[in-house]
Amino acid sequence: MRMPTCSLRFDSSALSGNRGPPLGLKGNLMSNSLISKGKVVELAYSLKDSEGEILDQSDSQDPFVYLHGAEQIVPGLESALDGLKVGDKKQVTVQPAEGYGEFNEELRLTVKRAQFPADAELEEGVEFETTLQDGTPAIFTIIEIEEDKVTVDGNHPLAGEVLHFDVEVLSIREASAEEMSHGHAHGPDGHHHH
Ligand SMILES: [Zn+2]
Repeated sequence: MRMPTCSLRFDSSALSGNRGPPLGLKGNLMSNSLISKGKVVELAYSLKDSEGEILDQSDSQDPFVYLHGAEQIVPGLESALDGLKVGDKKQVTVQPAEGYGEFNEELRLTVKRAQFPADAELEEGVEFETTLQDGTPAIFTIIEIEEDKVTVDGNHPLAGEVLHFDVEVLSIREASAEEMSHGHAHGPDGHHHH
């Protein structure tokens, strides 16, 4: 999700078409400067667990960039950021249901070695994709291997965690048409080939 960035300037290109008289534009400027669906947002943030241990962080030198309203970030954080403006700082506590989900015991399974392809290199910590019975794709991580038994876990590593975010809004700009069609942010100028 992290995109290379080279500047922290507020990108006002979305307003550059407004070259007319400045009077009367204020409402427009204001609404463009609030986080809402279709905006690309740069954040500095830290994420801590309930013990205060830092799980992830991003500072203003290497901000986190995302497309608001595209489910690129956990729902509890996305809704808390709605309506914020550049310079706003906020502490957000996200419960598991609005974060990475509750820990689900049923997603911890012990399966036979033979259920994996014969040439698969199985090691603790290795992740692999599979499809659940209802057809949803899921990522499982191997947590233990004992002879011909392999224990795997399909929970997100942060499932069950209460997430404590400390965020600062660094910039907000309109998403490009390409970003909107891709459903993610591309970098400070909206152009990124991948
Ligand atoms: Zn893209």
